[in-house]
Amino acid sequence: MALPHIDYHAVLDAVTTHTEACPLCAAIDEAESSFWDSVLFSQVGTEGFQDQFLATDGFCRPHARDLAARNDGTAVTMLYVPLLAHRRRWIEEETRRSRRLRRWLRRRREHPAVRTGASASSHDCLLCRRIDHWSTRFLINLLRHQHDGAVREALTTGSGLCVPHYRRLRALAGSGRVLGWLPGGPERVPPAAPWLVDLHAERFDELARDAQSAAHGSGDTVWKRLIRTMEGGRGW
Ligand SMILES: [Zn+2]
Ligand SMILES: [Zn+2]
Repeated sequence: MALPHIDYHAVLDAVTTHTEACPLCAAIDEAESSFWDSVLFSQVGTEGFQDQFLATDGFCRPHARDLAARNDGTAVTMLYVPLLAHRRRWIEEETRRSRRLRRWLRRRREHPAVRTGASASSHDCLLCRRIDHWSTRFLINLLRHQHDGAVREALTTGSGLCVPHYRRLRALAGSGRVLGWLPGGPERVPPAAPWLVDLHAERFDELARDAQSAAHGSGDTVWKRLIRTMEGGRGW
């Protein structure tokens, strides 16, 4: 089973290639691109994908916007015409329910969660859920291989993780979560090594210092790096 090996190389490749910004944000950007290629070239017409799309109430708004940016009208039509019918059914259903619910709520002072048929949130969206899975997997593998010389060297020359991904890394490192999927047997998520914590403390201090001194100068764009590091993601 070569999975951990592949995972190690995915981490090493990302930290080696992307030294100018958060390597996980860059890896997600590439993974999103492959996701859209795979959806548009092979999955969009399949019943399995369409059912999944309806079951999750479509994509969240930012990912719907990414899909629209790919200018594939046929794919959008194939997905969104059934979604329109689905949402219209739910508008009617919710109205019927809400009459019954108002009567029911008078007796029970609770609010039931009626979510289906609404616009998808990031908790529902297929792509958000995949990104969540990829990110967790990446950060766990980064922690598992943090003592590897090549990973450490590449990370040390780069700008480190963005704040949201660093926060997630620290939460995972402190969770003591047991990883049951490793071929060598279960393993706990290791704690973050002091060098990794120190590296991020240094990078964030440097960034704050650079942004503050650049703010008094002219024409510098450190503030762009600051907001990108704070928020994560691409396109800043
Ligand atoms: Zn990031
Ligand atoms: Zn999404």
